[in-house]
Amino acid sequence: MAYTVLRGGLVLDIAAGTAAAADVLIEDDTIREIGAPGCAAPAEAREISAARRLVHPGLVNAHTHSHGNLGKGMGDRWTLELLLTAAPWVGGNRGADDIHLSAQIGAIEMVLKGCTACFDLFFEWPVPSREGIGLVASAYAEVGMRAVIAPMVSDRTFYESIPGLADALPPALRDRVAALRLPPGEATLASIRDALHHWSYDRDRVRPAVAPTIPHHCTDAFITGCADIARDFDVGLHSHVAESKVQAVTGIRVYGETQTAHLARLGVIGPHFTVAHGVWLDHDDMSRLGDHGASVAHNPGSNMRLGCGLADTRAMLERQVNLGIGTDGASCSDNQNMYEALRLASFVSKVQGPEWQRWLTTREAALAATEGSARILGFDGLIGRIAPGYKADLVLLDLDHPNWLPMNDPVNQLVHCEDGNAVHSVMIGGRMVVENRRVLTVDLEKLRDRAAAARDRLAAANADNKRLYQALEPVVGSHCPGLARMPYHVHRYGALAE
Ligand SMILES: [Zn+2]
Repeated sequence: MAYTVLRGGLVLDIAAGTAAAADVLIEDDTIREIGAPGCAAPAEAREISAARRLVHPGLVNAHTHSHGNLGKGMGDRWTLELLLTAAPWVGGNRGADDIHLSAQIGAIEMVLKGCTACFDLFFEWPVPSREGIGLVASAYAEVGMRAVIAPMVSDRTFYESIPGLADALPPALRDRVAALRLPPGEATLASIRDALHHWSYDRDRVRPAVAPTIPHHCTDAFITGCADIARDFDVGLHSHVAESKVQAVTGIRVYGETQTAHLARLGVIGPHFTVAHGVWLDHDDMSRLGDHGASVAHNPGSNMRLGCGLADTRAMLERQVNLGIGTDGASCSDNQNMYEALRLASFVSKVQGPEWQRWLTTREAALAATEGSARILGFDGLIGRIAPGYKADLVLLDLDHPNWLPMNDPVNQLVHCEDGNAVHSVMIGGRMVVENRRVLTVDLEKLRDRAAAARDRLAAANADNKRLYQALEPVVGSHCPGLARMPYHVHRYGALAE
C-alpha cells in the first residue's frame, strides 16, 4: 500500500457547485476519503500541499484522434469533406515512430491542459495492427495518461461513399483515388479481433474499443461486424454520425432514412454506442439514442472549424442522451484543450435561440466533460468525480493565477475563465504526471527533435499526396457544398417545433 494525502486544497464538487476546504486521502491509485482539513492519515503517507489550489476531477476527452497531432495547423478553410480529401497528405506514409510520436504529443498536450483520459479513434493504413495499437498504447502509458484506443475502420473510401462524387471526378483523378481502395472488410475485422484477443495492457489504464468511422463509409455487414466484436469483447462502439450536412443528406440518399434510424434498424445502438458530433440529428434520432442509453461526444470546436454547425445539446439531454465533450483530432480543432472545449460547449448552446432557459448551464457542461465523457470511455464510476472509490485523477489549479482572481464561482469559472494556464499539477492514478507546470514523465526536448525530423520527412514523403489534394479540392469543394445546399429539415429548438 502507498498512501498520499493532498492537504489544504479546495475540492470541487461539480454537481453541488461547491469548492470546500478538504483533504484527499489516496491509497495507491484510488481515492479513499475526502476528509476535513487536517484529517488523520497513515504516518507513512506522502503529503502533497494543495494550498491555494482548486482540486478538480481530471477532464475526460470523449473524442480525439492520436494520428492528428502531427497534422495540426496544416489546413484552414476545410469542410469535413475537404479534411477527408486531405487525409492522405496530412496522415500518409506514417511509420512506427510517427504513430508513437503523434500519440505522445497529443497525450502531453492533454495532460498539461488538465485532461487525464481520452477516447482515441486511431487510424492506421491500410488496416489496424496489433503493433500499431501497441505503439499508441505505449505512448499513453509512458506519459501516464488513461486512454481508450479504438481502431477507426471502414470498408469503403470517401469517394465510394458520397453520391455522385466519383462520377464528378475527371478520369485521371478517378484512377488516382481508386488506388486508395480499402482491403476487404473481413480482413479488417479479423485484424481488430486479433488485436483485442491479444490485448495485454492493464484495462484500467488503456482499454480497446471499435470505431466504424462513418456509417455510409461502411457496408451494413461491416458495421454489424464491428458491433459483434464490441459485444463479444464488451467494449465501446463509436462512430461519426450526422456530423456534416453532407453526411445527413447522404444518409437519406443511401438509406432512405437518417443514419441513426438505419443504425437502429441494424441493432447496433445500445449503452456502449457513441455518436460523435450529432450536429444533424433530429429529435427522433436523439430519442433513438436516449431510449437505448447511448451517448453523444460533442466536439464544438471541430464543428465550427469544419463549418458543420452547432449541435443542440439541450435537445439531447431532454431525450436522456448521455453527453460527453471532446476536442476532436488536432487536424481539425486544432488544439487538444478540454477547457476550451468546455467553454465552447457552453457558448454554442447559448447562440442557438433566445430561450435562455434552454441554454446549457456551466454545471451541465462540466458534468459532461467529466462523468459524461467517462461513461463514453467505459470508465463510469471510476473517473470523472472526486469521491471515495474513484481513481485519483486530479488537477490542481493555481488560485493565484489571474483566471481565479477573484474566485466568485468555481464551476462558472472552470468553464468560462479557465484556459489551461492555471494548471499547476496533474495526478493520474495517484501518480504525479505534471508538477509545477512541467511534465515529469517524458523528455520534451527529445520529443521536440523527433517532431521536427518527422515533419520534414513526412512533408517530403507526402508531397505527391499534397498535389493530389490540390487537384481534388476544386471538385470535392464544389460537389459536396452542392449536396449541402439540398433542403434538409431538422427540428431545432424543440419546444417550438413540437
Ligand atoms: Zn473525429
